[in-house]
Amino acid sequence: MQAQIENLVKLQSVDLERTRLTLALRALPAEVAQAEAELAAAERHSGEASAALSREESLRTRLDREVATHRQKAVRFRAQLDVVKTPEQANAVEHEIAFETSEADRLENEEFASLERTEAQETALAAARAQVESLASALEKIRSRVALRQQEHTAELATLNAEREAIRPLIEPEWLIRYDRLSGSRGTGLARVDNQQCTGCRMGVRPQMWNQLREGELLTCDSCGRLLYWDPAMAPAPKAPQPEHTPAARPRIQKPHQAGA
Ligand SMILES: [Zn+2]
Repeated sequence: MQAQIENLVKLQSVDLERTRLTLALRALPAEVAQAEAELAAAERHSGEASAALSREESLRTRLDREVATHRQKAVRFRAQLDVVKTPEQANAVEHEIAFETSEADRLENEEFASLERTEAQETALAAARAQVESLASALEKIRSRVALRQQEHTAELATLNAEREAIRPLIEPEWLIRYDRLSGSRGTGLARVDNQQCTGCRMGVRPQMWNQLREGELLTCDSCGRLLYWDPAMAPAPKAPQPEHTPAARPRIQKPHQAGA
């Protein structure tokens, strides 16, 4: 019986490790996908920053042209002042000159504001590009780490599968069937009894069962149905009297009595 129990314990530990590795393997592609998504978002952000910068530059080119047009018109109107015949005409031309000049000034102020925006956009673009670079190198590292893990996990799984195939024939088919059914439905098929409790479901075992278990029997938990066993190696060793370690060497400092208390 003891060998059966040991083999079942070994089988369960191999199976649990297989489950852990299988889940870990399944989770690995998500790490790459997340890093890819982060990089894609940073690239989008950098593209938007670059587009904003281009838009600002073409706005300034247009403003430049408009300022020049207004200044040229002002120059032409000033030339007309030399040839006007009446004060009314002179007034009208002066009015045009004032309008063209103020338009040119207004647009130049806009250009200045645009230059300030460009400065901020250039800083943002540089930061966005640096972010893209750092995420791209992070992605490469994650890809190679994931590839390595996949290799390692796959190799470990192959080893565990071989161990599993070696252990299973050593276990009585009746126990194996029950173990497989319970593992499938509850995650584990076998539970150690600890402190007169099933470690699978925490329910207490009856005294008679406890005695049988301690004699090395493999039983079934009344509550969860798992195969129950007792592991003498896990039982607390009888306590040996230990010399108490006292810091007696160090003289105790006595608190002075409070006067009047
Ligand atoms: Zn149980």
